[in-house]
Formats: sequence, structure tokens, C-alpha cells
Amino acid sequence: MQKLKVLNVDVDGCIGDLDTPWLEEYNRRYKDSLTRKDILTWDIHTYVKPECGNKIYDILREQGFFLKVIPMDGASELLEKWSKTHTINIVTDVPLEGQNDRTEWLAKYFPFIPKERIFYTGNKKEVKGDLIIDDKPLNLEEFPGIKICIDYTYNREITCEHYRVYSIQQAFDVVQAIEEGNQEILQKYFSKKKAA
Ligand SMILES: [Mg+2]
Repeated sequence: MQKLKVLNVDVDGCIGDLDTPWLEEYNRRYKDSLTRKDILTWDIHTYVKPECGNKIYDILREQGFFLKVIPMDGASELLEKWSKTHTINIVTDVPLEGQNDRTEWLAKYFPFIPKERIFYTGNKKEVKGDLIIDDKPLNLEEFPGIKICIDYTYNREITCEHYRVYSIQQAFDVVQAIEEGNQEILQKYFSKKKAA
């Protein structure tokens, strides 16, 4: 049993679906049919058409884009519940141009998260917390605490021990299992370090 105080939660891929509006926009502009399952590493620009390349990231810098992110089912209710007994830090890495939209989006869908608990950074290991819920391999590998990975094709090669879950609901099932010492649940989701 272990009491956790501070939970660091990522947005995109965890409590918000960025990929659907992002890929939709890319496919429309470049007449492609790329899906999330096609993307096997973090570097999405290597999966798009050559004429797009790094321009895939320009979409994220367009005004209003981050307002199109779709909240994950049940995420708001879950975070609201857990924020009553824990400190929830939202730790999110978005381009400067998208930060106002993200703040507005969070205020709309997660109004119970105080502004001072929203951290804009790509250097997530610097935000103190007991546990991180994220989908980016590097964020999980570098974080000096317990790691919960939301499973996607692009994060299956993580090189650290972590809990691998398939929804934000399951992520909080793991949080609860850690606090209750429920070994059955913990073993179910535990994922060993990959051999180098
Ligand atoms: Mg993410």
C-alpha cells in the first residue's frame, strides 16, 4: 500500500483525443488516409507524405486547433473525483501558439483544475509528482516516479518498467490498486523493462 499525493496527467492521448482532428486535417489537406494504427513510433512526420513532412506540426500551431481536441469518455468525471482527494497536475506540451486554446479547452471540460495546476512544458520530469500518466515514451522513461502508459502502437517499445493500460479509466484503476496494494490488478497491468 502506498499513498499517492500528486498525480501528473498528460492531456493529448490521455484525457483528450488529439489524433482524430489532427489526422483528419492532415488527410484532408494531403489527400491521404493515415490512421493512428499506422504510426509505429513517436515521430509522426516520418509517416506522412513527403510533401507534408514536418509541416504536420504546423497544424498544431494554427489558431483554434487545440479547441478541436475531443475529451476522452469519462475523463472529466474521473479527474474531478480524484481531484477531491489528490493534487492533479495537468502537464502538457503544446506549442506556444496553442496554449491559450488549451487553457480555454481545459476550463471548458475540466473546470475544477485550478490554473496553477496546469503546466506547459516538454520537460515533464521537472514537474514534481508521485506518478505520471502519459503516452509519450520519453516522458515516461525520464519521470522519477511511478509510470502509467496509455497504450498506443507508437509507445510499445518503452524501455522502463511501467503499467500499461488501455484507457484513462484503467489508469485510475491502477492508481487505486497501488493505494490499496491490490497485487492482482497491479500484476495484470505491469509491464517489464524491455531488453536493450
Ligand atoms: Mg500525450
